[in-house]
Amino acid sequence: MVIEIEPNFYEDFMRASKLFIQTLRDFPNDAEAMSHKLLVRAGFIKKLANGIYTYMPLMKRVLDKVSKITREEMNAAGAQELLMPFVQPAELWQKSGRWQVYGKELMRMKDRHDNEMCLAPTHEEVVTSVADGILASYKQLPVNLYHIQLKFRDEIRPRFGLLRGREFIMKDAYSFHTSEESLDEEYQNMAEAYKKIFKRCGLETRMVQSDSGAIGGSVSHEFMVLVDTAVGEDDVFYCEKCGYSANSNHAISKLNETETDGGFKELKTVDTPNVKTIEDLAKFFNIKENCILKAVLYIASFADEETPDKPVLVMIRGDKEVEETKLSNAVGALEVRKAVDEEVVEALGCEPGYLSFLGAADKNVEILFDETARGMNNFVIGANEPHKHITGYNFSDITEKDVKEVKFFDISLVKAGEGCPDCGAPLKITRGIEVGNIFKLGTKYSKPMNALYTDENGKTHPYIMGCYGIGISRTAAAAVERYHDEFGIIWPLEIAPYHAVVVPVNTNDEAQVKLAEEIYEKLKKAGIEVVLDDRADRAGVKFKDADLIGYPFRITVGKTIAEGLVEFKKRDEKDVLKLSPDEAVNLVVEQVSAAK
Ligand code: ATP
Ligand code: MG
Repeated sequence: MVIEIEPNFYEDFMRASKLFIQTLRDFPNDAEAMSHKLLVRAGFIKKLANGIYTYMPLMKRVLDKVSKITREEMNAAGAQELLMPFVQPAELWQKSGRWQVYGKELMRMKDRHDNEMCLAPTHEEVVTSVADGILASYKQLPVNLYHIQLKFRDEIRPRFGLLRGREFIMKDAYSFHTSEESLDEEYQNMAEAYKKIFKRCGLETRMVQSDSGAIGGSVSHEFMVLVDTAVGEDDVFYCEKCGYSANSNHAISKLNETETDGGFKELKTVDTPNVKTIEDLAKFFNIKENCILKAVLYIASFADEETPDKPVLVMIRGDKEVEETKLSNAVGALEVRKAVDEEVVEALGCEPGYLSFLGAADKNVEILFDETARGMNNFVIGANEPHKHITGYNFSDITEKDVKEVKFFDISLVKAGEGCPDCGAPLKITRGIEVGNIFKLGTKYSKPMNALYTDENGKTHPYIMGCYGIGISRTAAAAVERYHDEFGIIWPLEIAPYHAVVVPVNTNDEAQVKLAEEIYEKLKKAGIEVVLDDRADRAGVKFKDADLIGYPFRITVGKTIAEGLVEFKKRDEKDVLKLSPDEAVNLVVEQVSAAK
């Protein structure tokens, strides 16, 4: 007896001889990430241009599954689906102010009437304009609108295949509220929905605090798939004791030593010939690195192309490094980079190694102090003169000629082992792939776009908004990054392109072919998404392809049919079970049902 589950509405089965696919013998040579290598080699994606791929039939099925899970959970969470345009007028973006600041990631073009347009990198502007006029009264709010749609970002470094493409598929949701409390509730609601979505995709994720980046807003969290390779582009600091987790661009720590005193009794300029690095200085003076106030010069560039690049001098405790996203945010820059030697000399009049803010107040340099500098006493700084440093320096020694206003920012990079900001336990570090994020936007878009609702008293206010993204194509690739072995992909059952493959070992053996066909029919009838590998190839080739493609279950019909048995194998297990054909079918059906 074969158990039946409800069949899907479209035909979920396939003969391998008909499948539109090309598997490759080798990995593509332009790929670094395993997910990129495997998805190309197993025939899931085909490159059209840098960061632009065709999703082949197997990939389309995976994407549909991730989308379906996402859609079901978004609907269950009370959000409504719509679909917004991919090509958008510049006018909207000018209204929000982002046309000027979005930079080169925004793909701009002109239509035949010379109107400026862009390809959608995201939809805050459009959704705000759509809501405006329809969500007129407080009685209609809150509302959460979402869509699943192509986005285009002319990424500076498209890489890792689908993980960072230029064209990619995103689920994006936007919520509209009359109060912060209402936004808080929806933010929580979405966080819960996200946890369910990724879990149902068979992916373990961690929700981490993060920087709000170009989208703006105040609070945001990212959902990270943790990986231990550089393909995880983000560093995540986490605490095993209390659960604190944050992207390195947002993480803070309790420093082991808050009070740092160099112990120098007097303020003195000291010759330090060729002693340039923090390490050498610490040795030279026989002090700890955290008793040196380090100066690092950066060049900030701004999204608004009219604003010229600007040198920024960061003063930070000697043992600490600068976190560049934090620094960019502190100076309102698009990005920062370390200055080269010539730029240092031009900005500060001194070669690197001896730098500080001394006499820099009237120079064209913005000066920032990192929080770690606070609490330092009698320390060492550069004299801003070649081959000289000053010992016994204190904040009270700073004059108007040096720094007009001493401003502290959190711009340092946390290090593993430093204390968790919440509970003090040592922080750990790992890498992560961001598969989704949630933001509180507030009135960042509604205000400039004048998108208003009317309250109980007839007064108008801009909507308070939130936005919530999931990279559909990135999530699928992250699953491959996380689950594979030397033979190929190991798809989580929930998002596998097909559940099972049936492999007749010898297609010239009529009995084998007949039984394989029967099993195929039974699985089809039971609603299992199944491929029959009816190709006349050698069994070895078919097994290799099955492993490469990553079907969760394989039923092999070979010589053992003489004993009335077939082989059943799970992709993620070594063991092969010998079962009767019906037992094998039932095992697949049971496991697929359990995962639904
Ligand atoms: P990232 O920091 O990785 O560039 P982002 O902060 O720009 O991401 P959002 O604009 O919030 O991301 O987009 C929402 C989701 O879309 C991300 O969490 C990610 O999963 C996905 N995503 C963003 N950029 C890309 C890309 N270039 N390729 C594939 N997926 C992407
Ligand atoms: Mg981005």
